[in-house]
Amino acid sequence: SKQVEKETLAKEEKKYAQFDSLTGIYNRRMGELMMRNALALCSSKQKYALMMIDLDDFKQINDQYGHLQGDRVLREIASVIMTHMGNGDIFCRYGGDEFAIICRDEQRVREAMQDIHRRMKNPWVVSGMNFMLKYVVGGIGYPMVANSEEEVIKGLEYAVMTAKKKEQEPVCFCTNEMMNYIKRKYQIVEILKECVEKNSFEVYFQPIFDIHTATYRKAEALLRLPDNPLGFVSPEEFIPIAEENGLIAPITYQVLEKTCIFIKELMKETIDFVGVSVNFSVIQFMQENVEQKVLHIIGQYHIPYDLIKIEITESMLATNYDAIMQFMSNMTKHGIQFLLDDFGTGYSNISYVLKVPFHTVKIDKSLVWQAMKDKKAAILVRKMAEAFKEVGLHVLAEGIETQEHIDFMKSCGCDYLQGYYYSRPLPKQKALDTIIHNEVANKIKKLQ
Ligand code: C2E
Ligand code: CA
Ligand code: CA
Repeated sequence: SKQVEKETLAKEEKKYAQFDSLTGIYNRRMGELMMRNALALCSSKQKYALMMIDLDDFKQINDQYGHLQGDRVLREIASVIMTHMGNGDIFCRYGGDEFAIICRDEQRVREAMQDIHRRMKNPWVVSGMNFMLKYVVGGIGYPMVANSEEEVIKGLEYAVMTAKKKEQEPVCFCTNEMMNYIKRKYQIVEILKECVEKNSFEVYFQPIFDIHTATYRKAEALLRLPDNPLGFVSPEEFIPIAEENGLIAPITYQVLEKTCIFIKELMKETIDFVGVSVNFSVIQFMQENVEQKVLHIIGQYHIPYDLIKIEITESMLATNYDAIMQFMSNMTKHGIQFLLDDFGTGYSNISYVLKVPFHTVKIDKSLVWQAMKDKKAAILVRKMAEAFKEVGLHVLAEGIETQEHIDFMKSCGCDYLQGYYYSRPLPKQKALDTIIHNEVANKIKKLQ
């Protein structure tokens, strides 16, 4: 089969031009072909290391100095990188401003990455002009870290992305630890996709305690993965992955549907239920027709709109203010209230809170806990809660775990308390039972 592979390779070689006309090195097609070939020939004795050099923002050089100058810089960079190449190394122009290198010696790749970085952080002089270039250098070993062509690509992409986050030394060689992280992430993506397809997510509901009536008339919908090979995966881990992979929008609609079903069940009981809040992600507002979709879903279940509430965070407002404001003002017309989630963790820009039509501010659990340990934090929380109340907002405190938390937050004039002290997030039936039993117990208390 190696013979067949060689023959196809030879044919392919002829089919495409092999070299990049600007720099004279291999082009991307050849680079990929040779990488495939190298990986196929890899054995216990022969290992490979790959390196990627990605110029950030090169378009800006073209725009600022013209394409001719841009071309000169690219040629210059290619020839500098070339000086670090050895016999048998494969060097190619992978994209407009990306270079890839395949090498048989990992140690040399690691050294070359450092040498190239040391050169590239200095200005380039082409035709008497000085350029500073943004760049990143990523690398990976095969088969020590990556085990397939797919893993090579994913690992390199990850190394490049990690390098981008390092200001001083934008260089990263993919480690085993990183590879495990990447693999876990892809496993989570697969699980999420399957759940979306089968609509098999679980939604838990955490009852929220109303201080004025001493009842559980509110709840928050919280997403859970069903049983899966990875065991328990926290939403803190999988929500950002869902956001990165374009899955959060359909997920949110499914959570909304399950929340409607939950409310429908509660409506059969004779209790004054006030509503359930659903968490929205900023990505949601980059979609079209969010308003129509939300109204349509709630309408399908014949639920009064005002039983659904939406939680958004401050950082979302900072990134997509106009779209969210538009959405909020339209939803508010239908009676849907908004809660400001995680107040105290992000920007904490009071002006947003005042400008935007929120019904309730949720003081983040970290702030509540901090107030127990730190007098200044306690003063801050108290003053903020008072200020919110004064401008007509409702205040909810998260992360209520102890009597001490309750006493303090009550003394700050809080309206609602949410936390493990009262109840953990519960599966649908348990949440229904908790809310209904509490209501019944309250009625009995009143009769006595
Ligand atoms: P969040 O919106 O701040 O939700 C409250 C989190 O605090 C929940 O974590 C809840 O279980 C936890 N919690 C509540 N009371 C206590 C307490 O007394 N002590 C402690 N230690 N924790 C408490 P969970 O369910 O793990 O969710 C984590 C985050 O994931 C949520 O934070 C939210 O940002 C996100 N998330 C969860 N479900 C969804 C969803 O359906 N859509 C979106 N976009 N995000 C979601
Ligand atoms: Ca929330
Ligand atoms: Ca929160």
